[in-house]
Amino acid sequence: MMALQKVDTMRISSQKDTSRLTFKDFQEAVSWILRGGYRLQLRSDGVVEVCHSLPGGRLVTQDILDALTPFYREFKRRLKKPRGWPRNVELPKWWSDIALGFTITRARASECPECGFPVAILVDFDMWNEWRCPQCGVIAEPCLPNIKTVS
Ligand SMILES: [Zn+2]
Repeated sequence: MMALQKVDTMRISSQKDTSRLTFKDFQEAVSWILRGGYRLQLRSDGVVEVCHSLPGGRLVTQDILDALTPFYREFKRRLKKPRGWPRNVELPKWWSDIALGFTITRARASECPECGFPVAILVDFDMWNEWRCPQCGVIAEPCLPNIKTVS
Protein backbone atom coordinates (compact mmCIF):
# COMPACT_ATOMS: atom_id res chain seq x y z
CA MET A 1 0.00 0.00 0.00
CA MET A 2 1.24 3.44 -0.85
CA ALA A 3 1.68 5.57 2.20
CA LEU A 4 1.21 8.91 0.55
CA GLN A 5 -1.19 9.78 -2.19
CA LYS A 6 -1.93 12.91 -4.11
CA VAL A 7 -5.44 14.30 -4.21
CA ASP A 8 -5.53 15.92 -7.62
CA THR A 9 -4.95 14.12 -10.88
CA MET A 10 -1.38 14.38 -12.00
CA ARG A 11 -1.03 15.71 -15.50
CA ILE A 12 1.79 14.51 -17.64
CA SER A 13 4.32 17.22 -18.06
CA SER A 14 6.76 17.38 -20.92
CA GLN A 15 9.44 19.35 -19.12
CA LYS A 16 11.84 17.30 -17.06
CA ASP A 17 12.89 18.59 -13.70
CA THR A 18 16.56 17.79 -13.38
CA SER A 19 16.97 18.45 -9.65
CA ARG A 20 15.20 15.87 -7.49
CA LEU A 21 13.40 17.18 -4.46
CA THR A 22 14.91 15.90 -1.21
CA PHE A 23 14.71 16.90 2.43
CA LYS A 24 17.49 16.30 4.90
CA ASP A 25 15.15 15.99 7.86
CA PHE A 26 11.57 16.25 9.05
CA GLN A 27 11.91 19.94 9.96
CA GLU A 28 13.07 20.83 6.47
CA ALA A 29 10.18 18.89 4.93
CA VAL A 30 7.71 20.68 7.21
CA SER A 31 9.00 24.17 6.38
CA TRP A 32 8.80 23.35 2.70
CA ILE A 33 5.20 22.12 3.10
CA LEU A 34 4.09 25.17 5.09
CA ARG A 35 5.90 27.70 2.88
CA GLY A 36 4.53 26.15 -0.28
CA GLY A 37 0.94 26.02 0.96
CA TYR A 38 0.64 22.24 0.87
CA ARG A 39 -1.67 20.38 3.21
CA LEU A 40 -1.63 16.82 4.43
CA GLN A 41 -4.57 14.82 5.62
CA LEU A 42 -4.65 11.45 7.31
CA ARG A 43 -7.39 9.24 5.93
CA SER A 44 -9.08 6.63 8.08
CA ASP A 45 -7.34 3.90 6.10
CA GLY A 46 -3.93 5.33 7.08
CA VAL A 47 -3.11 6.95 3.77
CA VAL A 48 -1.74 10.48 4.01
CA GLU A 49 -3.16 12.66 1.25
CA VAL A 50 -1.21 15.63 -0.04
CA CYS A 51 -2.93 18.61 -1.63
CA HIS A 52 -2.21 22.23 -2.35
CA SER A 53 -4.30 24.85 -0.59
CA LEU A 54 -3.30 28.21 -2.04
CA PRO A 55 -4.89 29.99 -5.02
CA GLY A 56 -3.53 28.84 -8.34
CA GLY A 57 -3.18 25.29 -6.96
CA ARG A 58 0.11 23.63 -7.73
CA LEU A 59 0.33 20.04 -8.81
CA VAL A 60 1.28 17.41 -6.31
CA THR A 61 3.80 15.43 -8.30
CA GLN A 62 5.24 11.98 -7.75
CA ASP A 63 8.53 13.70 -7.02
CA ILE A 64 6.94 15.49 -4.06
CA LEU A 65 5.37 12.30 -2.75
CA ASP A 66 8.69 10.47 -3.04
CA ALA A 67 10.49 13.23 -1.15
CA LEU A 68 7.91 13.18 1.66
CA THR A 69 7.57 9.41 1.98
CA PRO A 70 10.55 8.94 4.39
CA PHE A 71 8.64 11.06 6.91
CA TYR A 72 5.34 9.21 6.58
CA ARG A 73 5.36 7.79 10.12
CA GLU A 74 5.99 11.19 11.70
CA PHE A 75 3.29 12.82 9.52
CA LYS A 76 0.82 10.14 10.52
CA ARG A 77 1.61 10.54 14.22
CA ARG A 78 1.08 14.30 14.08
CA LEU A 79 -1.97 14.32 11.83
CA LYS A 80 -3.97 12.01 14.07
CA LYS A 81 -6.61 13.52 16.32
CA PRO A 82 -4.80 14.46 19.54
CA ARG A 83 -5.71 12.67 22.75
CA GLY A 84 -8.94 14.11 24.14
CA TRP A 85 -10.30 15.43 20.82
CA PRO A 86 -14.08 14.81 20.86
CA ARG A 87 -15.17 11.97 18.60
CA ASN A 88 -18.05 13.90 17.05
CA VAL A 89 -15.93 16.89 15.99
CA GLU A 90 -13.98 16.72 12.73
CA LEU A 91 -10.47 18.13 12.53
CA PRO A 92 -10.47 21.49 10.72
CA LYS A 93 -9.30 21.44 7.10
CA TRP A 94 -6.20 23.47 8.01
CA TRP A 95 -5.24 20.91 10.66
CA SER A 96 -1.93 20.01 9.04
CA ASP A 97 -0.80 23.67 9.20
CA ILE A 98 -1.14 23.49 12.99
CA ALA A 99 -0.21 19.86 13.56
CA LEU A 100 3.00 20.04 11.54
CA GLY A 101 4.06 23.48 12.76
CA PHE A 102 3.43 23.00 16.48
CA THR A 103 3.71 20.31 19.12
CA ILE A 104 0.20 19.49 20.24
CA THR A 105 -0.02 17.27 23.27
CA ARG A 106 -3.72 17.16 24.09
CA ALA A 107 -7.17 18.39 23.21
CA ARG A 108 -10.42 18.78 25.04
CA ALA A 109 -13.99 19.87 24.47
CA SER A 110 -14.09 23.57 25.31
CA GLU A 111 -15.97 26.27 23.46
CA CYS A 112 -13.80 29.14 22.24
CA PRO A 113 -14.92 32.48 23.75
CA GLU A 114 -13.99 34.25 20.46
CA CYS A 115 -15.22 32.09 17.61
CA GLY A 116 -17.19 29.30 19.28
CA PHE A 117 -15.02 26.43 18.01
CA PRO A 118 -15.89 23.48 20.29
CA VAL A 119 -12.37 22.19 20.99
CA ALA A 120 -9.21 23.61 22.57
CA ILE A 121 -5.74 22.17 22.00
CA LEU A 122 -2.76 22.18 24.33
CA VAL A 123 0.27 23.52 22.47
CA ASP A 124 3.73 22.79 23.83
CA PHE A 125 6.04 25.78 23.26
CA ASP A 126 8.89 23.97 25.02
CA MET A 127 9.18 26.43 27.92
CA TRP A 128 5.43 26.69 28.46
CA ASN A 129 2.07 25.23 27.41
CA GLU A 130 -0.98 27.06 26.15
CA TRP A 131 -4.55 25.99 25.56
CA ARG A 132 -5.36 27.48 22.17
CA CYS A 133 -8.29 27.55 19.83
CA PRO A 134 -7.37 25.64 16.63
CA GLN A 135 -9.66 27.88 14.58
CA CYS A 136 -8.82 31.48 15.57
CA GLY A 137 -5.68 30.88 17.66
CA VAL A 138 -6.92 32.74 20.70
CA ILE A 139 -5.47 31.66 24.05
CA ALA A 140 -8.27 29.81 25.78
CA GLU A 141 -6.62 29.80 29.20
CA PRO A 142 -3.68 31.51 30.90
CA CYS A 143 -0.45 29.78 29.95
CA LEU A 144 1.18 27.22 32.16
CA PRO A 145 4.92 26.97 32.75
CA ASN A 146 6.40 23.74 31.53
CA ILE A 147 8.14 22.14 34.45
CA LYS A 148 10.96 20.02 33.16
CA THR A 149 13.63 18.29 35.15
CA VAL A 150 17.07 19.69 34.55
CA SER A 151 19.61 16.97 33.99
ZN1 LIG B 1 -11.55 30.48 18.42
